[in-house]
Amino acid sequence: MSEKTLPVADTTATFRHLRTMLRRRRSAVALVVALAVGVTIASAAVPLIVGAAVDLAVDGDGDRNGLAWLAGLLAIAAVVGALGTMTGRYQAAKLGESVLAELRSGVYDAVVALPASTVERVGTGELVARTTGDVEVLANATRSTVPMLFIGSILSVGLTIGLFVTDVRLAVAGIVAFGAVAWPGVRWYLRHAPPRYAHQRQVEGERSGAILEAYNGRHTLWSFGATGEAIRRIDRHGQTTVDAALATTAARNRLRPALRIGQGASLAAILAVGAWLLGDGRLTAGTLTAAAFFMLRLIDPISMLVEQLDTVQQAQAALARIIGVIEHTDAAPPSTGAPLATGSGAISIDGVGFGYRPDVPVLHDISLDIPAGSHVLLVGPSGAGKSTLARLLCAMDQPGTGSIRIGEHDLADVEPVDRPRLVALVAQETHVFARSIRENVALAHTDATTEEVRAALRTVGAADWADGLPAGIDTIVDADHPAITPARAQQLNLARILCLDPAVLILDEATADLDPITAATTERRVEVALRGRTVVTIAHRLDGAPDADLIVMIDEGRIVDVGTHRGLVATAGPYADLWASWSR
Ligand code: ATP
Repeated sequence: MSEKTLPVADTTATFRHLRTMLRRRRSAVALVVALAVGVTIASAAVPLIVGAAVDLAVDGDGDRNGLAWLAGLLAIAAVVGALGTMTGRYQAAKLGESVLAELRSGVYDAVVALPASTVERVGTGELVARTTGDVEVLANATRSTVPMLFIGSILSVGLTIGLFVTDVRLAVAGIVAFGAVAWPGVRWYLRHAPPRYAHQRQVEGERSGAILEAYNGRHTLWSFGATGEAIRRIDRHGQTTVDAALATTAARNRLRPALRIGQGASLAAILAVGAWLLGDGRLTAGTLTAAAFFMLRLIDPISMLVEQLDTVQQAQAALARIIGVIEHTDAAPPSTGAPLATGSGAISIDGVGFGYRPDVPVLHDISLDIPAGSHVLLVGPSGAGKSTLARLLCAMDQPGTGSIRIGEHDLADVEPVDRPRLVALVAQETHVFARSIRENVALAHTDATTEEVRAALRTVGAADWADGLPAGIDTIVDADHPAITPARAQQLNLARILCLDPAVLILDEATADLDPITAATTERRVEVALRGRTVVTIAHRLDGAPDADLIVMIDEGRIVDVGTHRGLVATAGPYADLWASWSR
């Protein structure tokens, strides 16, 4: 896996995963196979019946009764074949859709469960490509190609058997001629096309990432006059995508002529050998007709299979990328039902080290005990590692070394579904979902009562404006709703936390979007509501420092001072210097 991409499953892992999914749908697979075999038998009967009719016409002096029987059999074979194909395609598509639905939700769950640092490293483009682009490619293949492929492969095997049963000599002649002419082209394609398709999918993901990045950073690009350079970067990605698409088209263009010439060669060989055997009286006209008919019919599913190979290659590349993410990530298991006993909110950090990249450590050997119910301020210069420590405290990332315990729980062992009740993070960026105010507030505690939701809204000072909306707390809002200012979005976020009521709360610049007066009021209200909870605040301002129970100062990823405000100011250490410069 490169720095910027998520893992891709190898062929063995891809097929193992697919096999497991199909094993769970045994009866659907059996039905599709049975239908395909039925279609094959009906299809294989046609050349045999036509061959028999020719022999009857030539040797049986036009036995009308016999010919009528054969015509009836032909009609039955045609009806069975048509009905079987129709039902088979439908059942195969149904099976494909159910596999697709499982993959789609699997990749979504896996992406949601990815560690935050991985999400940041690979970027939005790669995630969007995996969850939508790759799924789309697979969905198209599942709808159009997979049913054809399934029936086509069984049909080609059945017709080949039929050809050999009709006449081994003609079968060998036809297949050898087809193989000799078409195989070099097919082999070349099979060897060169898969990496080209995989590359195409990858560069398309990178191009999406570049476009998204330029869009998200458009104001910065404009301010720095760098819009032109960003467009040129996107153009370069666009050119790479075009080159990749041309490379796959070139591969297809080498395959198709090989197949067409192979078709012609196989028929010519059957007719040539057949004519020779016929002349010697070692073959009947009916057998030659049946064999030529088999070859003609066989060419259809074979060319369909090979013609679809490009879609299969694309689908296989997409499937490998989807399964790569699913197998790489341990998606959150469903809740076991019994809620986690959160216990005390005491935090014990023991020898914690961490780096976003293995070669660039950010935190070094951090050890700290925070008593339950205390209010701790993490302070330090910009880039010191405060937010990084906060991310580890709420299990957004895992420590590289050491461990973090909250109460009696080691954070590394807490199931993702249980984590929010133990520790929650209120960050600067908030999101208002397109749901009612009530549902937004009860996001992580869906069975909260109306009174609990109202109490949370009252505490953060949002009850008045929420009640003033057309449907009160049942009004559907979203981030673009005119009533939802950034300050109100943050209030809803804080109300969410109060409703969740976690044992430990991490506040990272949580009130920075509020104006100073609202920020101070909200902070006071939240503090009152959270009395008794352990609160770790990442402080960029030191206004609240004198009231905190514990100050922890971090610099260059190490704890350089710990104590009460009063105690630290009295001993002339790093915090005293920071406080002095802040006070000035
Ligand atoms: P600030 O007060 O400016 O937010 P901070 O003390 O919270 O700073 P961190 O944000 O934890 O510091 O950053 C610590 C170091 O880790 C910095 O060198 C920063 O560049 C780096 N860093 C932070 N977030 C990431 C990330 N997602 N990926 C890679 N490096 C990161």
